[in-house]
Amino acid sequence: MKNSRLSRNNAGSNKHNLVDYNNACTTFKWESVEKELGWKEGSPVNIAHSCIDRHVEEGRGDRIALICHCESGKKMYTYADMRSLTNRFANALKTSGIKKGERVVLLLPASAEFFISFLGVVKTGAIAVPIHSKYMSDALKVFLQDCEPSLVITTSPLCQRISKIAVPSIRRIIVVDGRDNENEWHRLVETSDDCPATEWMSREDPMLLLYTSGSTGNPKGVVHVHEGALQYYQTGRWVLDLKKTDIYWCTADPGWITGISYGVWAPLLNGVTTMVYGGPFDARSWYRLIEDNRITVWYTTPTYLKMLMSAGSNIAREYRLASLRKILSVGEPLNPIINRWSLSAFNLPIYDSWWMTETGALMIANFSCLPLKPGSMGKPIPGIYAAVIDDQGKELPPLEMGQLAIKAGWPAMMRDIWRDREKYNEYFRLPPWYLTGDLAYKDRDGYFWFQGRIDDVIKCQSERVGPFEIESKLVEHPAVTEAGVIGKPDPLRGEIIKAFIVLEKGYTWSNELKQDIRDFIKTRLAPHLVPEEVQVCSSLPRTKSGKLMRRVLKSWELGLPVHDVTAAE
Ligand code: AMP
Repeated sequence: MKNSRLSRNNAGSNKHNLVDYNNACTTFKWESVEKELGWKEGSPVNIAHSCIDRHVEEGRGDRIALICHCESGKKMYTYADMRSLTNRFANALKTSGIKKGERVVLLLPASAEFFISFLGVVKTGAIAVPIHSKYMSDALKVFLQDCEPSLVITTSPLCQRISKIAVPSIRRIIVVDGRDNENEWHRLVETSDDCPATEWMSREDPMLLLYTSGSTGNPKGVVHVHEGALQYYQTGRWVLDLKKTDIYWCTADPGWITGISYGVWAPLLNGVTTMVYGGPFDARSWYRLIEDNRITVWYTTPTYLKMLMSAGSNIAREYRLASLRKILSVGEPLNPIINRWSLSAFNLPIYDSWWMTETGALMIANFSCLPLKPGSMGKPIPGIYAAVIDDQGKELPPLEMGQLAIKAGWPAMMRDIWRDREKYNEYFRLPPWYLTGDLAYKDRDGYFWFQGRIDDVIKCQSERVGPFEIESKLVEHPAVTEAGVIGKPDPLRGEIIKAFIVLEKGYTWSNELKQDIRDFIKTRLAPHLVPEEVQVCSSLPRTKSGKLMRRVLKSWELGLPVHDVTAAE
């Protein structure tokens, strides 16, 4: 049984969208994708139109675009429904004065309302700013004051978190409440005209601003443009192997780039049916979703896969999961153990893939038409040149470890860091490279192998966590005078957050104080930013200029020798 599925998978390789990887690497040009999207040279575009209206205009309006599983139950929307709803919402926004280039924040859980609002915003030419609904007031304040939105779309419980934040630019807050059809969002959609609402944009016009963490400073707003559509579409075809008949599920929240590029853009540009699920993780519910919706292509993360693995293969066997034909993973290293488990649980391997918020779209992946190397991120997408480089930007030979770099200038590449050109330029300081901050090596067959981060960015449950944001909040607690935060390796979550703190005079360490500090972070920043472990120290290692040495903290934690502390006091 196991082998029959595997051989079917391999035997069917001539049916994959990408059949000859090497040939594509030498012949492929991004311009060839324009025709697929109906884009004409020099003509304006709009990615939301290419996702929705194009399919209706080409006779595919009856296809299901979206299956939504939310608290209120299951709902389905055809491409024609989505055209009408996104037009209505876009027209409502235009009537309320939203103009090209203005920012509209979407503080919403994964839902049909999110999809309709998001695509509607992009149709108006405004810049959509999706923010994960788990962020609390202090974190939201940083985002809102940085991007200065004109409008916020949110739910009534989430609205309370922003009501006290002073952001003079906000003219209106539209509240969505899934359970009540009388709410403002529904009223707007119902009463607005569904005539075409698309504003035609230059390919280089921004359409998305997404916040992500680095190891220094506050989260930065990564800017993406309409041109990215070429790559979202093509990687959806080649890496996800999407066909028009597929029913696809990307488990990422739309507050993370994966939930946008591969939750919204790639499936809709490819005209497939995509499922959105707004509920919590639970192995049985997830398998039931796959079974009931006959999911064929599934894009998820190693953390979720590990959680399913620890729930046991027997649970997987209780469900009919034979509709699945392709499983992919992203966000953190995919341990080969998970791949072995997947073969026994699903009769399918897992295809790892690599990219980041700043790259906008997939850069390196394992492809159905190539031998799969478990543990490797795979090979560059045709059209992308990836390399491992040294500190001077010189390309290193196979098997030597260095920084992973991409030759700059691909369609989905970020075009700016919002209001911080200097930070943007730092990524490109060694031309012709975009510097990823990841360590990797390439093997003799051209496969890339992830080796860690160069900086102090933490990856916890596939989410990027900036130690600086947590440290800054920790020292606002009255009992904390200094704080240093690191990622501690964890078999389930990749890394957990560990904080080292120095107590203010007069405070004594106790479990109650620890809980109070953790609650302080949870209620002000976000639950996923709460340090799992907190350790009290008499002082923190710093350079002579006072800079925190997180790598010394990491060495303490891992019991490694502490080299190069000459600069420390
Ligand atoms: P984000 O921008 O939040 O998606 O995070 C991007 C970072 O996640 C990358 O720079 C890597 O450090 C990590 N990452 C993404 N995909 C992988 C992968 N397949 N293997 C290892 N690390 C990954």
